[in-house]
Amino acid sequence: MRYLILSDMHANWEAFETVLRRARRKRYEAVLVLGDLVGYGAAPNQVVDAVRRMGPRLYTVRGNHDKVVAGIDSGGNFNQTALTAAQWTTGRLTPGNLRYVRDLPQGPMKVEEGVAICHGSPLDEDTYVFSDVDAWEIFSRYETPVTFFGHTHIPSLFWLEGKLLGVKALRGTSGRIVLSPGGRYLINPGSIGQPRDRDPRASYMIYDSKKQVVTWYRIPYAIGESQARIRKAGLPNSLADRLAVGA
Ligand code: ZN
Repeated sequence: MRYLILSDMHANWEAFETVLRRARRKRYEAVLVLGDLVGYGAAPNQVVDAVRRMGPRLYTVRGNHDKVVAGIDSGGNFNQTALTAAQWTTGRLTPGNLRYVRDLPQGPMKVEEGVAICHGSPLDEDTYVFSDVDAWEIFSRYETPVTFFGHTHIPSLFWLEGKLLGVKALRGTSGRIVLSPGGRYLINPGSIGQPRDRDPRASYMIYDSKKQVVTWYRIPYAIGESQARIRKAGLPNSLADRLAVGA
């Protein structure tokens, strides 16, 4: 199966639309969405509408922002900017889209034999996986060979082969990883709507589970339009500013 992997769109329509248009040429058969469809950006309905149109081969899990927007979580651990954006989003989503966000399933979710998706960690949907120590804990407690995760907004790869643990930041315009049969992998496609690795371009992946090849891509989009939309909505200025630097 060829999967298109999308994460952390964060209501950034300009980024999401650009990724979808570009990815159409990649001939994927199913779509994996790793959560945080909304929160931060100013186009929540456009993004949720587009995700809802992606069926039937669509697998989604919820993110921490989706939970706060839907009222599943109070957002007590959010900073003021994130909380302001979440509350704004709750007020803007159509009833149908709010219901869709509220009903997004909790990860981890199995998508085929040996492949799973989650938002933060497969052990806890809200936990960030940044380091080899974080990855080690997951590898020692969670068996699935290939897991795609989001949440950190940093395209990255963690792997375990025998007793060897590896970490790699995925940089550049595109690249390819061939997974080895005995290895186990935690793979982050990065964020579409709010990259945080100092590369402002939108980030996504294609995974071919038969060939066991992962390809990542970064593409430029109309950041100025996203920023203008955020400012016009009256959302905190910092949410617009950070898009230009990818932080
Ligand atoms: Zn996120």
